[in-house]
Amino acid sequence: MSTASRPQLVVMKFGGTSVEDAAAIRRTAAVVRGRREKGLEAVVVVSAMAKVTDTLLAAAAAAGNGDKSGALALSARLRSRHLETAGELVKQPQLNALLNHIQHDFDHLDDLLRGIAAVGELTPRTTDNVVSYGERLSSQIVAAAFDAAGIKGTHLDARHCIVTDDSYGKAVPNETLIEARLKEHALPLIEQGLTPVMGGFIGANEKGVTTTLGRGGSDFSAALVGGGLHAGAIEIWTDVNGIMTTDPRICADALRVKTISFEEAAELAYFGAKVLHPATILPAVQQNIPVFVLNSRNAANEGTRISAVAPPCRSPFKCIAVKKKLTIVDIVASRMLMTHGYLKAVFDVFDKHKVVIDMVSTSEVSISVTVDTSDKLPQIAEDLSKIADVKYESNKALVCLVGEDIRGHAGIAGKVFTAIGHVNVRMISQGASEINMSFMIEEDDASEAIRSLHSTFFADPDPNIFDLDARANTTGAPPVNEPARITVQ
Ligand code: ADP
Ligand code: ASP
Ligand code: MG
Repeated sequence: MSTASRPQLVVMKFGGTSVEDAAAIRRTAAVVRGRREKGLEAVVVVSAMAKVTDTLLAAAAAAGNGDKSGALALSARLRSRHLETAGELVKQPQLNALLNHIQHDFDHLDDLLRGIAAVGELTPRTTDNVVSYGERLSSQIVAAAFDAAGIKGTHLDARHCIVTDDSYGKAVPNETLIEARLKEHALPLIEQGLTPVMGGFIGANEKGVTTTLGRGGSDFSAALVGGGLHAGAIEIWTDVNGIMTTDPRICADALRVKTISFEEAAELAYFGAKVLHPATILPAVQQNIPVFVLNSRNAANEGTRISAVAPPCRSPFKCIAVKKKLTIVDIVASRMLMTHGYLKAVFDVFDKHKVVIDMVSTSEVSISVTVDTSDKLPQIAEDLSKIADVKYESNKALVCLVGEDIRGHAGIAGKVFTAIGHVNVRMISQGASEINMSFMIEEDDASEAIRSLHSTFFADPDPNIFDLDARANTTGAPPVNEPARITVQ
């Protein structure tokens, strides 16, 4: 198989807000047109329309609880929203085919919901099937809208390309098969001058059963497509001006980070910066493909460039991330102190329940870990009770400060904890990578702690790294219909 890179190809991923209604899809089409007019090839990956994934999950849950009419009512609302959006974007005779397609998909979805309600049981496999409709529908509509807008949109079923294992809800992609499938299904379309549009987040196992990559997984899909096609760039188009120094919803003073390293971005995403899915970076890193985070409501903005090496920064941190809804589990060795094999026995229990640990701290007799699930904890506690006394507490938040320049700065920890002196800190860790410092606090204290840290560490930002003119802009600037200025390198 050819591994030749395709520098003229850009994989463009548009999140839920960038396809939320007809106006957003028109803006998205304008952004893609900008790229195509520069002579670039584009593969477009779209999320479900904003909030659709949540509604589909709610419909699946209602059906699973036997509430058939509740589930069908949610689906009916989604049906009208999709039909209306399609009607605003596509003209006859193409419109009829699109509307038929949408009706057909919703008829299937309704059958599925009725089936779930009838058996009163919702499996992870069926949940994936229900939730996949969000991206299946949005990608059909966007492809038709692109075609109507004269940018040669063509639909490509992501499930033919994104091959995964059977871990429903958080399936693991098979990059070798994905590369082969993209070569078979996507490349011929690109070579004909078309713009393939595929749904993010969804895939299928080798038998063709629908799977999903986990919440926020469309970014991951884009990176898999970019990696598989050896693209020149991956662009993550969202509703903010790029990666900001912290979540702009928490801190209105957040600044755009102009450039950040792969390693820093990966830490940030892993520790809760929703702007990027944690797994996004890897396929891009492996091939050194630059990733840009850009604002589809403000396409002229330069966004954030994520690249192998970031230039040095005057301040120790680039960003502050926060991950909420975490639980701390305190495990106190009951009979034995931590004898040989004890830690392994503890971690094996978490592994058995497929629960990922975010942070660990140990003492002679106890281990504290943080996890982002609470529903599996009763079983985990029961398994652990054979070797330890276990307590757990929910509603915790992990605050994580990230920056490659932590290394060169003395006295950082002192400055961090002075800034949040009034907050009760439960656990502290400085990652072995030495590019993050994180600590665990009560969820209720998180926003204030972030604001206080932000004003301490971003009072005098380095103009080479941070955009001092553009402040956070969650609502977005007025739509700009001109091509963005990013050049693919
Ligand atoms: P999309 O639907 O486009 O994937 P998401 O909602 O997943 O968008 O991610 C974008 C949101 O991430 C922003 O609206 C912002 O509120 C949030 N966010 C959290 N942390 C950051 C950060 N450090 N920089 C930018 N956005 C952030
Ligand atoms: N639609 C999915 C979600 O809301 C995937 C994504 O948007 O990235 O989680
Ligand atoms: Mg997202």
